[in-house]
Amino acid sequence: MTPLRKNAYHSNDILSKITPHLKGVIRRQNGGLLAFCPGHNDRKSRSLAVNVGDDGRVLLKCFAGCSIHEITSAMGLSVSDLFPDTSKAKYDPQSRAYFQEWQILEALAFDAAVLLIAARRINEGETLPEADLEYLAKAVIRINDAVSYSRRSHGR
Ligand SMILES: [Zn+2]
Repeated sequence: MTPLRKNAYHSNDILSKITPHLKGVIRRQNGGLLAFCPGHNDRKSRSLAVNVGDDGRVLLKCFAGCSIHEITSAMGLSVSDLFPDTSKAKYDPQSRAYFQEWQILEALAFDAAVLLIAARRINEGETLPEADLEYLAKAVIRINDAVSYSRRSHGR
């Protein structure tokens, strides 16, 4: 495991916004990053995998099971900071007219993944933090918005 060079992701603005909030960042063979997870007491194992999705979104995965909310809030960020500026605009009603449906579905797929993580934690007897519940409540609103948007664009 080689230490991450400072400019390894120079061209990648979104990762360079995230990595200063992480400790022990190293580069993996596959091009992703590993770091100590800020969401739990992670000093040895580098439980946090960091990657950039095809859509430019930062993907965070804690192998110890921290939620996306726990990780981002421990970094002083919000979940929306993981999205590139173009996809953040997805939730801006002003610019909705420019969205393709696949873009909306992609955002929903992310929410569905968050929901699955939440469901797993509940299954393991955990109580979800309030922030996670709020995030999921907002996801429901987003999904409803997407339905109305899709209906309108098909004239229904
Ligand atoms: Zn963690």
